[in-house]
Amino acid sequence: MTELITIPGRWEFDYTYFAGEAASRFFGELKDSRRIMGVRCPSCKRVLVPARSFCDVCFQRTEEWVEVGPEGVVETFTILTAAFAGMPKPPVVIAYVTFDGADTALLNVLTGLDLSNISDAAHRLQARPRVRASFVDEPQGRITDFTFTLL
Ligand SMILES: [Zn+2]
Repeated sequence: MTELITIPGRWEFDYTYFAGEAASRFFGELKDSRRIMGVRCPSCKRVLVPARSFCDVCFQRTEEWVEVGPEGVVETFTILTAAFAGMPKPPVVIAYVTFDGADTALLNVLTGLDLSNISDAAHRLQARPRVRASFVDEPQGRITDFTFTLL
């Protein structure tokens, strides 16, 4: 049997990517209106968040914009205890939240939870608590414009 090996590497580069029509409007709504926007699929009627141009199930083009939230429920989460580039200083909670009125979950940082005891924090999150999107003072049109905070 072939021995499986690992090959060390390192990536560090700046990049810019084209966000596209739906994501551009989604982030613009965060910045200009502090609203979380999704789109309704014309076929399955699910509200997809974040907004995207096509339904991932039906492959239908989406054009009906719907405001969701600002409250929702934690679906799942992880607690980062190691530092990652571009992320807040650990420990950090990353959660998937389904906003009220949405059918898909959005990933973002959850703040305001006491993380002095990671196990206790995890147990609290396993109860799928309700949260609210809390916006920064000066939104920039980025996902970092808001975090989830526990209600
Ligand atoms: Zn659909």
